[in-house]
Amino acid sequence: MIRVEQSTNLKAKPPQGELGFGKYFTDHMFMLDYEASQGWHDARIVPYQPLTLDPAAKVFHYGQTIFEGLKAYHGSDGRVRLFRPEANIARMNRSNVRMSVPELDSELFLAALERLIEVDAAWIPSEPGTSLYIRPFVIATQALLGVAPSEQYQFAIIMSPVGAYYPEGINPVRIFVESEHVRASVGGVGEAKTAGNYAATFMSQQTAKESGYTQVMWLDSAQHRYIEEVGSMNVFFCIDGKVCTPALSGSILAGVTRSSIIQLLESWGIEVLERAITIEEVYEAGRAGLLEESFGTGTAAVVSPIGELCWRGEQLLIGDGRTGALSKRLYDTLTGIQYGTVEDRFGWMR
Ligand code: PMP
Repeated sequence: MIRVEQSTNLKAKPPQGELGFGKYFTDHMFMLDYEASQGWHDARIVPYQPLTLDPAAKVFHYGQTIFEGLKAYHGSDGRVRLFRPEANIARMNRSNVRMSVPELDSELFLAALERLIEVDAAWIPSEPGTSLYIRPFVIATQALLGVAPSEQYQFAIIMSPVGAYYPEGINPVRIFVESEHVRASVGGVGEAKTAGNYAATFMSQQTAKESGYTQVMWLDSAQHRYIEEVGSMNVFFCIDGKVCTPALSGSILAGVTRSSIIQLLESWGIEVLERAITIEEVYEAGRAGLLEESFGTGTAAVVSPIGELCWRGEQLLIGDGRTGALSKRLYDTLTGIQYGTVEDRFGWMR
């Protein structure tokens, strides 16, 4: 069902210590086309190559495009494992529905991931903390300026060997709380993994970086009070012995790591409250000495402890700015499951 055209011009692989993130790409890519009359068709693995698109392609004008991000890990036992690919496939189809893109066949999607990883297996890095980042995406390719859903699409999967997120061990980050601009609003497309949601964040991210902060924490669009997410991570707080995370309101992404962290915590007997959380509440808890830990969760960093917040010019140090015990335990357990050193009791690895 999936045709494979082997590359005859294999690239040199970069040294594993210099991978960084998303800089190098493997020798092959998966492609699938859509025409209204034929549906999705012509599944193929081809040499990694540029796309040729008409300048009138709808993706350039109306941003009809979706992407996903997941990883494959080279286990210490030599086996290669994908982390919860079904969850990413399901999320991509939810995003597709929201952006009027035709849904993809889940089985074909999974088969494409597995086959592509097989073909480019030599690209999966094996040094501690490295992984193969996988980027599926779909673009509207119809050359027509009418403001309506495209009748043609291309779906592709590209892959990039990536370096360890924490080469010097897991480290807390400083976060700037954005109280003016917003990322998304309820009823909008915040829960879809679509390009415009990311472009919308760059301005604030740039400002935060210039002031020495790693990422931006987003607040809700109506009141600028309710916490949404942090950069491209979901966020958790441990307040007075209780763990909470913003509920999925429609404006934040339903992270696969977020759902895994909730399941892990619950399996340890730690209840997680998915609820509305205000920034005032977090600051009050912090001032009262009740804010024990906070961390972001996402595919890239897995768990990223938050050491400091800055909101309206007021700094708040969290847990002395050091990595909390729960953050560390979650990070060690989840990465252990991903690299095959901790038993996968949830059946997450494929
Ligand atoms: N929020 C946003 C906006 C993101 O882009 C991501 C990364 N996909 C996440 C949260 C975390 O999601 P996941 O755990 O699935 O990587």
